[in-house]
Amino acid sequence: MLKVYGSEVLDFVVDEGVQIHGGNGYSDEYIISKAYRDSRINRIYEGTNEINRLLTVDMVLKRAMKGRLDLMGPAMAVSKELMSIPDFGSADTAGFAKEKKMIANFKKAILMTAGSAVQKLMTKLENEQEILMNIADMAIETFHAESAFLRASKLADQRGEAACPFEIDVMRTYLYDAADHIHKSGKDAINGFADGDEQRMMLLGLKRFTKSEPFNCKEARRRIAAKLIADNKYPL
Ligand SMILES: Cc1cc2nc3c(=O)[nH]c(=O)nc-3n(C[C@H](O)[C@H](O)[C@H](O)COP(=O)(O)OP(=O)(O)OC[C@H]3O[C@@H](n4cnc5c(N)ncnc54)[C@H](O)[C@@H]3O)c2cc1C
Repeated sequence: MLKVYGSEVLDFVVDEGVQIHGGNGYSDEYIISKAYRDSRINRIYEGTNEINRLLTVDMVLKRAMKGRLDLMGPAMAVSKELMSIPDFGSADTAGFAKEKKMIANFKKAILMTAGSAVQKLMTKLENEQEILMNIADMAIETFHAESAFLRASKLADQRGEAACPFEIDVMRTYLYDAADHIHKSGKDAINGFADGDEQRMMLLGLKRFTKSEPFNCKEARRRIAAKLIADNKYPL
């Protein structure tokens, strides 16, 4: 998951780097053109990203089938939760309660989608690579969202929230984007195997599990950029 995500973020970064340089960025004389070309191989070697995405889900499903991982128990619990009255938000606003809940909900979105896909398609699922890749994308986004959350909240515990605004901005911006990415991947997966009432119910559940509060990502990105420019070094 780290290899897939890291290689795609790197491609995005060098692509933006070329763009910032304008026409010069395309020229061999500028080092950014080398970075642009060199970056691209990372999505191909050490397992192409397509194969790594398929493996990510395949390994989890195999463990579940061998009884080494309980996937269906939690998946059924999420389906049951969907039938119940929605939780309209917790009053708990202490610390990072909202962000913690978002991540718990992302995991529910994965369990709901993967659990239903397994139940519906059974052994045919391995031939539905697009659905497997959608589920892998949901897992990759959730893994990185949780990593950003754990890192920022650990630092906030150690130093106090006021001392780590940069890490908190990065974490909140990531979570805000991840909610939409997970929603899109989940929607594509569900529409790929479900129909009728089941499809409608799951799409509603997905919307519930990928809800995010309004967040001014433009200002957060400006603050992040300002610190990066001021420090002019890797900031984390
Ligand atoms: C610079 C460089 C260094 C390398 N170093 C090493 C090394 O040190 N050791 C080593 O062992 N190998 C190395 N390789 C080889 C590399 O691991 C392979 O290129 C890579 O595994 C992809 O295999 P392939 O080129 O045969 O592409 P193919 O397997 O033919 O794949 C072509 C495309 O189809 C996609 N694809 C294939 N199957 C599926 C599927 N089922 N679903 C969806 N998409 C699919 C792939 O993701 C890929 O995008 C290197 C390659 C390069 C270019």
